[in-house]
Amino acid sequence: MTEKDERHRIRMQRKKEVVDQKVGAAGMARGLFLIHTGNGKGKSSAAFGVLARALGHGQRAVVVQFVKNRSDTGEEAFFRAQPSVQWHVMGAGFTWETQDDGKDAAAAQTAWEVARQALANPEVDLVILDEFTYALKYRWLDMTEVLAAIAARPTMQHLIVTGRAAPQELVDAADTVTDMTLVKHAFQAGVQAMPGIEW
Ligand code: ATP
Ligand code: MG
Repeated sequence: MTEKDERHRIRMQRKKEVVDQKVGAAGMARGLFLIHTGNGKGKSSAAFGVLARALGHGQRAVVVQFVKNRSDTGEEAFFRAQPSVQWHVMGAGFTWETQDDGKDAAAAQTAWEVARQALANPEVDLVILDEFTYALKYRWLDMTEVLAAIAARPTMQHLIVTGRAAPQELVDAADTVTDMTLVKHAFQAGVQAMPGIEW
C-alpha cells in the first residue's frame, strides 16, 4: 500500500468511527413530519418518490392535493392503480385562475376534512398533503387546528407537506425540512410544461 493509500485508509477508518457513532446514537423510531418547500422544482415529485418507497415496504398512504384540480397527472394515473393508495384531488385551481377567495377557502376546508381523517387514522402509514402551505398562507385554514391535528396523529404515521413559503410555525413543528432552491428552470427559457417531467 502506498503512503497515499494508507493516509486514505486511516482517514476513512476515522470517518467510519464517527458515522457509526452517529448511527448508533440515532436509535429512535417514530413517524416523521417532512416539509418540502422553496421556489425550486421538486417538492411534489420528491413526495411522490417517498410514496413509491413507502409502498415498496407495504405501507398504506393517503394523498390530498390542495389547490391543484387537475386529474390528468402521471402521478395520479400511476398511484391510483395501487390498492394501498387513496388519492384525492381537492383544490379549486390556482388562485389566479379562480380569482375567488371564498371558493378557494371552501375547497381547502373540504380537503382539510379529508386530510384530518387521514391524520387520525392509525391504518394510514403515510399522509401527503400536496400544496398544503398555500391553505395556511391564505388563511383558508386555522393554524392552531392544523398543528393540533398533526401533533395528535398516530405515533408511527409519516406526513409530508409540500408547497412554497412554508410558514415558520409549520417548519418549527416538522422533523425534516428541505428548501428546494431554484437554480434555473426550463420554463424561464420558454419551454412548456412537459408531460412526465412537470405533470
Ligand atoms: P414538481 O411537481 O415538479 O416536483 P414542485 O412541486 O416543486 O414541482 P410547484 O410549485 O408545485 O413545484 O409547481 C408545480 C409545477 O410548476 C410543476 O409543473 C413544476 O415543474 C413547475 N415549477 C416548479 N418550480 C418552478 C419554477 N421555479 N418556475 C417555473 N415552473 C416551476
Ligand atoms: Mg408541487
